[in-house]
Amino acid sequence: MSNNFDTKKIHSGYQPQKHNYSATVPIYQNVAFDLHDTERADKIARGEEPDAFMYSRVNNPTVDVFEKRIAELDGGVGAVAVSSGMAAITYAILNTAEGGGRIIAPLDIYGAALDEFRTLLPKFGINFDFVDDINDFENIERLIKPDTKAIYAESVSNPITNVADVTKIAELAHSHNIPLIIDNTFPTPYLFNPIKHGADIVVYSSTKGISGHGNVVSGLIVDGGQFDWKKEKFPQFYENEITLKKKGRKDFSFAAVYGKEAYLQHLRTKYLRLMGGVLSPFSAYLDLLGLETISERIGKEVATSLKIAHFLEKNEHVERVFNSGLLNTPQEELVKKYFTKGIGTIFSFKLKGNMKNVTELLNNVKVFTYLPNVGDNRSLIVNPSRVTHREIPENERQKQEISDNLIRLSIGLEDSSDLITDLEQAINKAFEE
Ligand code: PLP
Repeated sequence: MSNNFDTKKIHSGYQPQKHNYSATVPIYQNVAFDLHDTERADKIARGEEPDAFMYSRVNNPTVDVFEKRIAELDGGVGAVAVSSGMAAITYAILNTAEGGGRIIAPLDIYGAALDEFRTLLPKFGINFDFVDDINDFENIERLIKPDTKAIYAESVSNPITNVADVTKIAELAHSHNIPLIIDNTFPTPYLFNPIKHGADIVVYSSTKGISGHGNVVSGLIVDGGQFDWKKEKFPQFYENEITLKKKGRKDFSFAAVYGKEAYLQHLRTKYLRLMGGVLSPFSAYLDLLGLETISERIGKEVATSLKIAHFLEKNEHVERVFNSGLLNTPQEELVKKYFTKGIGTIFSFKLKGNMKNVTELLNNVKVFTYLPNVGDNRSLIVNPSRVTHREIPENERQKQEISDNLIRLSIGLEDSSDLITDLEQAINKAFEE
């Protein structure tokens, strides 16, 4: 198979001859799979039939193609698909910091993730050290303690589009024997592959640009398979597991049985199987369908995003545009280094006004849809301080530029001049006397 992204996005992870030669990936909308006979059932139980399917909460042929395809596109050893981006984040954190510990993360991450890190995971013994700037390496190094289990960041932050220096953060993490987890939702595997730049674990909300049609909630965890999970810090991968017991095998831990895939197999067996946040086969089918056109969609959307950002920069009622793809910020070199095809389709701007002006603008757009999602074929608009980031305390929102006059856009596939005309008329209405 070719190594080119556009061929892989159509064919990877799928062998038609194993599926009645169906040219497209079939939807296996079933719960369980025939064990055939007790001999085969025993072999599956002993892990001697690694490709076998048994029960769709653990794995399913349609979901399996989606997992393999994303893993190949991202350069990982494998992936586990789950029911949402939040499930992906939660399982990745629990699987890494099982039993408790600390994680370093920036404050400018997706609102629900920050809410979970601040208010929920500490109740499970996982505490977070937050930083204002994920590229402030001295500060991060100062925060690494004996029980720090990982560094977590978004490759492109939501909604301000700050870019993480993934290679440098990964080097820092690895020098302290901890992994780097990257939420790569905004760029998608089309614009950026964190594993190729040193990240260890990648999480996605495939609800967004990967599926792209605003019709499926889903998520994934991808593993680069290169991280050395040391026993003292990550004992969960070295415990003897009753499910992996096999005659003649002395060490029946995930590390011994699965090697480079220990992290993902542990996540699938312990978190997906036991906590159950499974992706439905039909949702995986929608994800696969969207993925087939990811380059064409995102390529056009990135180009339109830049046109709109340029238009906004010149508008008299706009205070500031936050789109690091404009290459007009101190992050210019980082963007050029990592994002040769663009940073993505989502960005923000501040009006020279207040909540009243924002309200008027939102109530007057006709082509943009007002809703709290991103990465759709439709162009979307939202006021983060009142909707997507409302859980974040006011003082922290201010630090991240999420003030009441900030508006986030997610650019879709409509005609770019229609989108600009729509924003222009809505902005004019918002400032009418
Ligand atoms: N990560 C990022 C960067 C997001 O923007 C979102 C949702 O907006 C999520 C994760 C959560 O994804 P989901 O809504 O699929 O749970």
